[in-house]
Amino acid sequence: MKRIFEVAPWNVVTHKLDKENKRLQESLTSLGNGYMGMRGNFEEDYSGDSLPGIYLAGVWYPDKTRVGWWKNGYPDYFGKVINAVNFIKMNFLIDGSKLDLYTDKISDFTLDLDMKNAKLNRSFVVEKDGSKVKFNFERFLSVAQKELSVQKVSFENVGDKAVDVKVISSLDADVKNEDANYDEHFWQVLEITEDGIIAETKPNDFGTPRFTSGMQVSYVTGLKEVDHEVGKLETSKTFEINLQPNEVGSLEKRVIVVTSRDYESVDDIRDAMEGISARTAKVDYDDLLSAHENVWADRWNQSDIKIDGDTDAQQGMRFNLFGLFTTYSGEDSRLNIGPKGFTGEKYGGATYWDTEAFCIPVYLGVSQPEVTRNLLMYRYNQLDGAYINAQRQGLKGALYPMVTFNGIECHNEWEITFEEIHRNGDIAFAIYNYTRYTGDKSFVLHEGSKMLTEMSRFWADRVHYSKRNEQYMIHGVTGPDEYENNVDNNWYTNLLARWTLKYTLEILGEVSKDQFAKLAVTKEEMAHWQDIVDKMYLPYDEDLGIFVQHDGFLDKDIEPVSAIPEDQLPINQNWSWDKILRSPYIKQGDVLQGIWDFIDDFSDREKKRNFDFYEPLTVHESSLSPAIHSVLAADLHYEEKAVALYERTARLDLDNYNNDTADGLHITSMTGGWLAMVQGFAGMRVHDDGTLSYKPFLPKKWNSYSFRQVFRGRVIEVTVKEAGPEFKLVSGDPLQINVYDKPLMLK
Ligand code: BGC
Repeated sequence: MKRIFEVAPWNVVTHKLDKENKRLQESLTSLGNGYMGMRGNFEEDYSGDSLPGIYLAGVWYPDKTRVGWWKNGYPDYFGKVINAVNFIKMNFLIDGSKLDLYTDKISDFTLDLDMKNAKLNRSFVVEKDGSKVKFNFERFLSVAQKELSVQKVSFENVGDKAVDVKVISSLDADVKNEDANYDEHFWQVLEITEDGIIAETKPNDFGTPRFTSGMQVSYVTGLKEVDHEVGKLETSKTFEINLQPNEVGSLEKRVIVVTSRDYESVDDIRDAMEGISARTAKVDYDDLLSAHENVWADRWNQSDIKIDGDTDAQQGMRFNLFGLFTTYSGEDSRLNIGPKGFTGEKYGGATYWDTEAFCIPVYLGVSQPEVTRNLLMYRYNQLDGAYINAQRQGLKGALYPMVTFNGIECHNEWEITFEEIHRNGDIAFAIYNYTRYTGDKSFVLHEGSKMLTEMSRFWADRVHYSKRNEQYMIHGVTGPDEYENNVDNNWYTNLLARWTLKYTLEILGEVSKDQFAKLAVTKEEMAHWQDIVDKMYLPYDEDLGIFVQHDGFLDKDIEPVSAIPEDQLPINQNWSWDKILRSPYIKQGDVLQGIWDFIDDFSDREKKRNFDFYEPLTVHESSLSPAIHSVLAADLHYEEKAVALYERTARLDLDNYNNDTADGLHITSMTGGWLAMVQGFAGMRVHDDGTLSYKPFLPKKWNSYSFRQVFRGRVIEVTVKEAGPEFKLVSGDPLQINVYDKPLMLK
C-alpha cells in the first residue's frame, strides 16, 4: 500500500512533487470526458521518469501478435490504444533557461485534482538564475463541448528583478507508446500548419480501419507572439512577456480535437475543427468552465455518495465514480469502458467482460437507462465480429470476444481467447439485468433476442453430450478464475450456458411473430436447447454441500490463503505460473461470481456453504474480485468481512493496493465501491418481478452514509444512520419498495 495524496472529500491533492512516484501521481490525476482523456502529465518537458498518455476514445492500432507458435484460430492481431498527438504541450523559458521540474529548484508545489469540477490544477514557485516565478496551471476536458480541451497558465514575477518569460506551445505528433515494437510511430502527418495538425494512423496489415485525428489550436493571451515554427511532426508558437516584480502574464490554450470516427474526409475534419473553434472562440474562459461544471454538477446530483465519519472512504468512493464518469458517459454506442480507461496503455483501452459483469450493474444505478442501452447496442453492433470468432473456432452462432475494439477477438493468450468463453453468458446476463432493472423490454425483444439466439447457437454447438453420464458438458475452458486453465465443466461457465439457453427460449416465446420469423430458429433447435437446459451437468459435492468450481478441483491440496507465507503474496508476483495453476488458490470469484449474479436463486445455506469454502481460498489478485465478495459477505451478515473487502476495493488506486497503479487506474474495478455499498451494505436488490428492496446496515466505523440511485424514472435517496435507514423520493412517481421484507411507499 502506498498513499501519496492527501485525504480530502472532493480533491486528490498533494503538496509534494513525488519524483520517485511520478507515474503514480500521473495516473491519479488523470482527466477524461468520455471522448478523450489523459494522464496527469505536465504540460512542459520533464526529464525524470514519466509515462506520457493522451488517448482518444475508439482510436486504436492493430499490432501483430507476438506468439511464436501459431495455432489455428488464433487472432491475427491484438489491438492497442495509441498515444494521440500531444496537444497539451507547452515549454517555458525563464530568462532563456528551460523549465524542468525534475531538476529545477521549486517550492510551494501543489497538484490538485478537483473531482467536483473535473479540473486539474498545479502551482509552484520556481527559482532560476536569481529570478523567481510563480506558475499556476489549470486544465479541463470539456463535457459540454466534448472536442474541446482548455488549459490556462499564468506566471507571476515573485522575485525582485524583471524576468523574461517565453512560452513555446505546440502540437506534437512525435509521440510513441511505451508498449510498442521497435520504438515505432503510429501517426503519419497529413497536414501541418501554424494552427493545426491532421494525422493518420499508419497502414496496417490486417485490414482494420485507419484513423485520422485533427487538432486545431487557438490562444487567448496578452503575450506577444514572437515566433512560430512548422516542422514535419510538430508545430509551435512562441509567446513572450517581460514581467516586472509582481506582474502577471497568462495564456489560455484551446484545442479542438476531432477524429475520422465522426468525420469522413480530411476536408470534413478541417471544417468541423474550424466550426467548433469559431463557436467556442466567442465564449470566455469562465463561461466555458461553468458550462463544463454544470454537467458535472448534474452528474453528482444524480449519483453522489456521502459517507459521514470516514473521509478516506468518502474520497475513495468519489474517486471511483469520477473515474467511471471520465471514461464513459454513454452518449456514443460505438464506445465502451476499457479496464484502464484513458489512464494508461495496459489493457489497451479495449473492451472486456468487465463492462457487462461489473460496470453495467453500476451504470444502471447511477445514470439514465440510455447509457446502459448504448453499452448493449455496442455488442449488438459487433455481432458480425462475434460470428467470425465462433467460425474461427469451428463453431456455430456468435462468440463475443474476451478483448476487443471491433467485435473481433484481439487477445493472444490462448487460455483467454479460446477458453474464457463464459463472456457469452455474461453478455446475455447483462441483457437480462438491463431488462429487469429498467422494466424496458424493447431491447430484449428486438436486438437482444438476436444476440441471445446467436449466443445460444454457439453454446449448443460448444457443449457435448457425454453418453456415459447422459449429461451435457463443456470441456477445455477457463472460468473467471484465470489461475486455472483448460479445465472441464467449470460450474460458472456451465451455469451461464444453461441459463442463456433457458432465457433465450423464454424470450423467443415473447418476441413478435415478425421477429421470431427473422430469427429463423427451428423447432428442432429449440428442442435441442431445451434438452441441454434439462441435462446440463453442474458439478456439485454432496458431502461439502458446495458447487464444485470444476472437475477435479476438490482433489487439489486444499489449504486456505492464510497458509501462504506473507512474503509470497501476491502469488502472481512470486510464484511460477505452473505453481499457480497447480495450487488451489483462486484469483477472483468463480463459483461465487455465479452466486452473486443469481443471488435470489440460492438459499442462505447454499450461499453460506459456498462462501465459507471458496472465499478463504481466494487471493483477490484481480482488482475486480473483492467487491462481489463484499456483497455476498454482507448478504450473509459477515459485516466485518464485508467492510474489510469493501476497503480493499474502494481505495484500490488511491492507496496503490496492488502496486500497479503507476501503469494506470483500474477503471472497471472502480465499480467495486458502489457495488459493495449499494448491493452490500444497503442490500439493494431488484427482483424478477421488478420490486426494489433493501436490507441496510451501517458499518461500525461510520456515522452514516447516503447515496442516490436512479430507478425506473425516479431518483431515490437512501440514507443509513445508526437510528436506521431513511428513504426519500427525490424525483419521479411514487414507488413501493421493500425494506427488510416490509413494503414502504415512497411519495
Ligand atoms: C481479470 C479479468 C479481467 C481483466 C481486465 C484480469 O486480471 O482476471 O477478469 O477481465 O483483468 O480487467
